[in-house]
Amino acid sequence: MKKTVLISIVTASLLTVVSANEEKSVPQILNSTLKKVEAVAKNTSTKASKESVKIDTKVSSIGEDKSVGDIIKASLGSSKSVDKNSSNAPFDYKLKPKKVADNVWCFFGALDKPTKENAGNMANNCYVKTNDGYFVMDTGPSYQFAKQAYSAMKKIANLPVKYVVNSHNHDDHWLGNDFYKKEFNATLIGPETINTNYKEGDKTRMYNVLPKNAIEGTHIIKLDKTPKKPFTISFGGKEFKIIPMAVKAHTIDDIFVYMPKEKVLFAGDLVMNGRITSNRDGSVMGQIKAIDMIDKLDWKVLVPGHGLITGKNAVDEARLYFKLLKERILKALDNDVDSTEITEKVTLPEFKDKAMYDILNAQNVGYAFDELEMLDDE
Ligand SMILES: [Zn+2]
Repeated sequence: MKKTVLISIVTASLLTVVSANEEKSVPQILNSTLKKVEAVAKNTSTKASKESVKIDTKVSSIGEDKSVGDIIKASLGSSKSVDKNSSNAPFDYKLKPKKVADNVWCFFGALDKPTKENAGNMANNCYVKTNDGYFVMDTGPSYQFAKQAYSAMKKIANLPVKYVVNSHNHDDHWLGNDFYKKEFNATLIGPETINTNYKEGDKTRMYNVLPKNAIEGTHIIKLDKTPKKPFTISFGGKEFKIIPMAVKAHTIDDIFVYMPKEKVLFAGDLVMNGRITSNRDGSVMGQIKAIDMIDKLDWKVLVPGHGLITGKNAVDEARLYFKLLKERILKALDNDVDSTEITEKVTLPEFKDKAMYDILNAQNVGYAFDELEMLDDE
């Protein structure tokens, strides 16, 4: 029975896809059909867990900062409190900006993968206040996130957002862009791959993971500028050096931002601390280059893409991680360890207590092996 349903979905969507997209290749069509089937299967199997999430939200939002009267009213189910706590209310990210330098505030995300519970709030986003408005580094995992981040910043200074920079194409860092465009017509700057790899209507990772009331209203829009060479934005009495990496590092086209006068650097995912990076789209050699480049700049505060350490030791973990990864894999290659045993033979116990080690380390070793093996052959 189930099989028949799936097959008819496959056939039906194959037909629609073929007729709607004549220019698509067969693998592309199959790919998008597979995604649809996966989505259908996912929806069916997560219905039960959605129900329990709904109940959880209700309990936690009643418990906090409410008078006894409010709680009783809520439990009696007065229409007002039902509205407030229904799943239609936007997900509350409970965002609190943390000041990291003069005129610089950041929202620090959880050291975790995106989950229903954190609603994608697991990357860092920052605001810089200038005389003419805000500069924003990364925009978070959803329209709602960006909206709530701005409303927290508006309490600090009621200023428009003029410029937005995205550090790279992973969707936990830029799905809030649409908010800044709609609200302020801000200039959106970021890697070209956001424009080339994504289009309005695509369902990226966050669309599949986030609760509906967090991702709802999030639209993918195009960036205004996708620089290939470093340039400077000067506005409101501040200078921002926008520096695109010339080599693949965390991704194929990372960008970091440096404020020379303030000695503040926004590293994006070229630097993480407190957790293991995911190197699935990156390069060990490129990461080492990027970290060297960042190390050479004179900064006092460095905000990583993920992680809470922003002081002079902010880069230490990332530098050591890639150094050890490279050394150990090259040694294993010398000893003729092959790809089937590499993740057993190469481990990084120095990092085993960092968040996401169990999920990501072996995977990083595998990718690093492929990369360094090719290098070895040349
Ligand atoms: Zn990230």
